[in-house]
Order: sequence, then structure tokens, then C-alpha cells
Amino acid sequence: MEVVKTENVTRIYRVGDVETNALRGVNLSIQSGEFTALIGPSGSGKTTLLQLIGCLDMPTSGRVTVNGKDVTNLNRNQRADIRAESIGFVFQFFALIPTLTAYENIEMPLLLAGKSSSERAERVKQLLEWIDLPDRANYRPDQLSGGQQQRVAVARALAINPALILADEPTANLDTPNGRQVMDVMTRLNKETGVTFLFATHDPRVIQYARRVVTLQDGLIIKDELVEKSAVGA
Ligand code: ADP
Ligand code: ADP
Repeated sequence: MEVVKTENVTRIYRVGDVETNALRGVNLSIQSGEFTALIGPSGSGKTTLLQLIGCLDMPTSGRVTVNGKDVTNLNRNQRADIRAESIGFVFQFFALIPTLTAYENIEMPLLLAGKSSSERAERVKQLLEWIDLPDRANYRPDQLSGGQQQRVAVARALAINPALILADEPTANLDTPNGRQVMDVMTRLNKETGVTFLFATHDPRVIQYARRVVTLQDGLIIKDELVEKSAVGA
């Protein structure tokens, strides 16, 4: 099944008299279960494309379909509903709530979704095991390493069982071992749960994890390649 489809998507930003054509007609189709890297130079439109697919922003023209739903012209509330149902987000700066523990951060989307306390407890326990942090459940973000924080953010993104997780430079603020741990966890979750990952990165070490690499330049896809199996998990 197709989780993401963009058809001739453009996004023009207007600031005063200045117009920026951030996306100039992007056609992208992503199937369920893919593990795809979005690469390209700074300013090529990666974040803009993730925001459109993530229903955080609307295209200037073209069509965006997420999990079979046309989200192009939805209003603010409708887009929030799509995000809550279908999309998890992982950001460069982790974006955990600093006053909450790892457990409570992961639990938050389940609370918002109205899950019962027993359902929440079971799911959070499972997620903490998946990210190899069962012993850090009661730690706050400032008591965790950057890699541990980002793994908590990945677990939080996965909590509601989304069709799609979008990650914008998930390892940009991590050193080599921590970045590797985060990518290993994302790879494992993709394999075990089948959740689709789309992540923007410019780090060659991170690109190596992808099974498909989509390259943006000046707001257009200039390359779209499947990675050979022998290179997976290098
Ligand atoms: P990337 O993520 O590849 O670095 P972006 O999508 O952030 O690229 O940016 C693409 C282009 O759009 C850049 O020229 C950037 O300056 C511009 N841009 C991005 N966001 C905005 C915004 N909110 N307002 C105006 N211009 C923006
Ligand atoms: P370095 O040469 O920078 O010390 P390593 O030899 O430790 O890197 O890295 C070996 C492998 O670990 C890389 O080929 C890559 O698969 C993975 N890796 C390293 N750094 C990162 C990172 N920041 N994010 C994801 N994976 C990484």
C-alpha cells in the first residue's frame, strides 16, 4: 500500500517581496514498510517536503496523499487529526518535554489518544524494551545522553502505531556512537513493526542505513535509487 504520494507538489514561500520556490514539482511515492533517506544540499527543500507530507504545512499547488487520504486542502483541525492518527515525528533537537520522564514522554501521545491506563502501561513497557531503555523509564531528558533522548523520541513517535514516521536530521546533534544507536533502533523498528520511515539527512554514515535514497536539488527530485541489499546495515 502507498503511504505517501506527492503529485507535482510546489511550495512557494513569500517573505515581503521575496519569493522562494522551495519545491518546484515533486512527485514521490512511498510504499508501506520503506526505509528511505531524503538527501540533498542545505536549502534543497528537504524540510519543506517533510512538512508537507507531515501535514504541518500546505503545498502551493499539487496534491499530497498520506495513508490513502488526500490531505492537500484539509483545514488545520483536519490536518491535526491526520497527524494524530497516522504520523510520528522525530526532530533534530529531540523535542522531548523536559519536565517529564522517558516513560511519561512516550506515554503522552497515548494519553492524548484516550488509551486506558492498562493499555498505556503495556505499550510504554514494550516501547522501552524496543529502544533498549527499560532501566531508564524514570529518567528525565536531562539525565539521558543525546542518543538515549532520541531513542525516547523515536519510541514516542511510534507509540500510536503510525503508518509513517518522519525524521528531520535525526542524528545531526549526536556523536558517532549515539547516532549509530539511533539508526540501529530505527532500522530494527522498521523491520519488526513494518512502520515506514522517511528521514532527511546529509550525513553519509546515516545514508548508509537507507534502502532507498531520494535526492533533492533546488526543489526537484534529481535522483531516486534503491540501495543494493549487500550495503544494508553497513
Ligand atoms: P533543506 O531542508 O533542504 O535545507 P528547506 O526546505 O529548509 O531546505 O528550505 C528550502 C528553501 O526554502 C530555502 O531556500 C529556505 O531558505 C526556504 N525556506 C524554508 N522555510 C522557509 C520559510 N518558513 N519562509 C521562507 N523561506 C523558507
Ligand atoms: P568514524 O569513522 O566516524 O569513527 P565509525 O567507524 O565509528 O565512524 O562508524 C562505523 C559505522 O557506524 C558507519 O559506517 C555507520 O554505519 C555507523 N555510524 C557512524 N556514525 C553514525 C551516525 N552518526 N549515525 C548513524 N550511523 C553512524
